[in-house]
Amino acid sequence: MQPVNIIGAGLAGSEAAWQIARAGVPVILHEMRPKVETFAHKTGDCAEMVCSNSFRSDDDVMNAVGQLHWEMRAAGGLIMAMADKHRLPAGGALAVDREAFSQAVTAALRAEPLIEIRDAEITDLPTDGNWIVATGPLTSDALASAIRKVTGTEALAFFDAIAPIVHAETIDMSVAWEQSRYDKGETEAEQRAYINCPMNRDQYEAFIDALLAADKTEFREGETAGYFDGCLPIEVMAERGRETLRHGPMKPVGLTNSHNPTEKAYAVVQLRRDNALGTLYNIVGFQTKMKYGAQTEVFRMIPALENASFARLGGIHRNSFLNSPTLLDDRMRMRLRPNLRFAGQVTGVEGYVESAAMGLLAGRMAAAAAKGHDLAPPAYTTAMGALVNHITGGAEAKTFQPMNVNFGLFPPLDEARSGRKGRKDRYPAYTQRAKDDFAAWLATQ
Ligand code: FAD
Repeated sequence: MQPVNIIGAGLAGSEAAWQIARAGVPVILHEMRPKVETFAHKTGDCAEMVCSNSFRSDDDVMNAVGQLHWEMRAAGGLIMAMADKHRLPAGGALAVDREAFSQAVTAALRAEPLIEIRDAEITDLPTDGNWIVATGPLTSDALASAIRKVTGTEALAFFDAIAPIVHAETIDMSVAWEQSRYDKGETEAEQRAYINCPMNRDQYEAFIDALLAADKTEFREGETAGYFDGCLPIEVMAERGRETLRHGPMKPVGLTNSHNPTEKAYAVVQLRRDNALGTLYNIVGFQTKMKYGAQTEVFRMIPALENASFARLGGIHRNSFLNSPTLLDDRMRMRLRPNLRFAGQVTGVEGYVESAAMGLLAGRMAAAAAKGHDLAPPAYTTAMGALVNHITGGAEAKTFQPMNVNFGLFPPLDEARSGRKGRKDRYPAYTQRAKDDFAAWLATQ
């Protein structure tokens, strides 16, 4: 049988290799480290965790990432098995002894007879064979330019400049209103694609003070080149002058407050729909390097967002990722080169767990293809299915930025389960539905 080749033995590539070998298909895993280094990795081990040692919440009832853990365990995932083995006490979070964890993943892959690990950088996109590209946020320069040659330069980003994303249901619509600036858009839905939060002068001044005083994260060495070409963090705009934001992303023109049509707002914060379901909205132009705690405090000063819950907070990082909604099909194959699947952070998911989950899925799909079958993704009522649906179709391609798994990606509950109102009832209903549907998907294989 022809082997599946994987580029990158990170969180995604390691999990993909494991799944393929377990399906009885040979694998060649190509990893450039330690010969070629990145600014963040420190070892030559597989599945190195470059920063925090946490896989986040392990609560598979009330938390979407905990549900993803459950699905990966149910699918016999190597990353979860080794994380469980090297778990450290951390309350409800799954934290691990990072060195022991990566060494255990490496040892398990090396001990698997169907897996061959080759120490080499792959510098071009292969034109034939069955391949998975899992090269992560720090994809080597040579391979990144090869990808850009095939996809076009706009389709592979080098930085993510993420504006915070809010759960729509937590926006106070008795204060905010729906309207696009100057009522632009052909359909009524387009004219109402934005949610506007008005500020008076005192609120604006207090907001600028808080922005300037907030704790910020510094860039790491090797991380900065090029980001200023894109979009400036809001706090940098505020540092340039107290009025800069009011003439930029917070300008109040072309908008009429439907709750109070005669009063002109001093500034307006706009949120734009972020997914087809309409459950998530991003705060337009609010990419930031503020620390997470500070972001929550500062953004909850915005009228109508006092009780906002964030699907993800903002950030600016070195990150190579594809515009997956335009480039990948729902089997994670590049439409232009269907012999290539992509997995992990390079597909526009964010985080260790999400990346490993996309490796698990791409691995299973590649193994099925090697055996002459087609494997569809799990239903998008599951955490894994919701995530792959978001990156390959559900997200807005124009504003696509990396995404963590969260309940905003899940379709609303059907009638049988929708008698439940508050989050305390809804989250267990989401995760129970996900478990049922994921188990049904596994049973088809
Ligand atoms: P990686 O784990 O990076 O694996 C990709 C692998 O591909 C690497 O081993 C790399 O050496 C290899 N590779 C690249 N190019 C080539 C090539 N051409 N040929 C062969 N091999 C190649 N996520 C979190 O959840 N928590 C955090 O705290 C966190 N902190 C981060 C800090 C930094 C500085 C960065 C850059 C990222 C951070 N992330 C964090 C994101 C994290 O990197 C990813 O979530 C996760 O590692 C992605 O998994 P992956 O397999 O897609 O990529």
